[in-house]
Amino acid sequence: MALTKMVFAYFSKLFLHRYFLISWVLLTSALLIANFYIYQRELQEVDHLAAAESRLIIRNVSVALGKRMRWPAKDVQFLGNHLTDIYQQKQAVGTRQQMIEELFLRLLQSRAGLYTQISLINPDGQEQVRAEFRAGQSAIVPASALENRANQYYVQEGLRLQPHELFLSGFDLDAEFGDLIRPYQPSVRFVARLNGAQNDLLGLVVIHYDGRDLFQRIESFGTNNIWLTTQDGGWLKGPDPAREWRFLFPESEKASMPQDYPGLWQKMSESRSETPQHLPQGLLTSTRFNPLERIASDTLPLRSEFSHWYVARFLPESELKAKHLPLQEHMTRILALTLVTSTLAALYIGLLWQQRRLATVELKKKNDTLALLNQHLEALASTDHLTQIANRQALEQELKRNIGLANRYQRPFSVILVDVDRFKLINDTQGHATGDTVLQDIANMLQDSTRLMDTVGRWGGEEFLIIVPEATLNEAVHLAEKLRALIESHEFIHHFPVTASFGVTQYVTQERETTLLARADDLLYQAKEGGRNRVLPELEQDS
Ligand code: GH3
Ligand code: MG
Ligand code: MG
Repeated sequence: MALTKMVFAYFSKLFLHRYFLISWVLLTSALLIANFYIYQRELQEVDHLAAAESRLIIRNVSVALGKRMRWPAKDVQFLGNHLTDIYQQKQAVGTRQQMIEELFLRLLQSRAGLYTQISLINPDGQEQVRAEFRAGQSAIVPASALENRANQYYVQEGLRLQPHELFLSGFDLDAEFGDLIRPYQPSVRFVARLNGAQNDLLGLVVIHYDGRDLFQRIESFGTNNIWLTTQDGGWLKGPDPAREWRFLFPESEKASMPQDYPGLWQKMSESRSETPQHLPQGLLTSTRFNPLERIASDTLPLRSEFSHWYVARFLPESELKAKHLPLQEHMTRILALTLVTSTLAALYIGLLWQQRRLATVELKKKNDTLALLNQHLEALASTDHLTQIANRQALEQELKRNIGLANRYQRPFSVILVDVDRFKLINDTQGHATGDTVLQDIANMLQDSTRLMDTVGRWGGEEFLIIVPEATLNEAVHLAEKLRALIESHEFIHHFPVTASFGVTQYVTQERETTLLARADDLLYQAKEGGRNRVLPELEQDS
């Protein structure tokens, strides 16, 4: 329990540490931004692929449908020419009938379900031969079941054809007897003329092309997102099979894309290119094409009711999103990995950072200690151990400095050499320790009674030197006199009076240090000679 607590405390401290947090935030945000950018690019790529796929599909569908319509057109043209030949050979009616029946049966069989009927109709609209394809078999309809088709619009159109011209009806559901045949059988009639020697009309040959064939072709593209409509939006193929073909129904039952998807219909009918359109509902790619464009030619002159169709591929937003799903899952894994990576990296960086910082702090501490020690050493080197005032070395340095300044700026300065009178006697009678105390007392007195800029030091034994910058001889003598009186009147530890003698002299420009000191020493000697406890200034200076 205690261990868990400790580990928890360690890690919470580590994770909450600012070095970790800063590294983590920086790393994570950098990685997240990079990943987000890549993700957006990938998403665009997915959408782009879906759009390209759509474009390819609708183009293929429109081409395939157009090509498919070429078959019945070619076949009806062939039949028209061939039957014209047979008629012009003027064979016996029975033989001719037999040849035609055989031809129809063979064609139906070979096209295997592409056509539901082939018939020969005379100029009065009466069927002469009718072959039908049912349940995988072709058969000739008995003469008793043949009918007059003069009322049918495609027969009337056929009768108005020019020689060699073909007619193509629009789609219709077989409603020849006033009722729709179910299941719906949308067909297109292909009609060709049989011509006599003077291009007089001998009859019509009609192929009933099964429209469902076209839509099986679309299904062969393997996607249920393809829509096909007539120019008015009638469903040939749509999302709801129950609504297909209903544009052919009576008014009240009609159904079309403009009713079912008005927004999409508007976009589709306005678009003149195959460029995919990203709509709120989804991705719509469509093209407008005429299925006969690829058939009609000089060798195949067509008259028809066909106008253009629309073929579209519509991917609803939900399906587009579904395409994003694998990418999103992938991204989630990458995101998790990113977080783990950045956390580990931040931990490492945080630790390094912290260590570096600790090392810097440690170094600074050591440097500070060293500086302090140095300061202390310096002080030690220039301080007299017993009296804690400047020692001889420091005094000599200060003297040199003052001589330099005096020579350079012509400023006065003076020195006072002090020697305790009969000090030996104090040592001898009161003991060395008392002598030391007396020396300390005198040092303190000298230090306390001079200015901050003056230097008081121990020159040796019981001798002190005072350097007085900016002081003329008179000023220095004045100071010396003050000090002398102070010592004389001081109450020392052993209760006997102590006195000192003073040699005072002012520095003479360009003079050497030793000369200055020798003069001071000489004066001091004279002061001793003169009876001690006195100040002896240099006589020449007065004059
Ligand atoms: P004068 O008046 O002629 O200067 O007589 P003096 O006795 O002061 O002179 P002297 O040079 O004969 O004696 C100086 C004495 O100072 C001798 C020495 O033992 C003593 N002395 C020197 N340094 C120290 C010190 O650090 N402590 C103590 N207690 N005595 C010291
Ligand atoms: Mg002495
Ligand atoms: Mg002395």
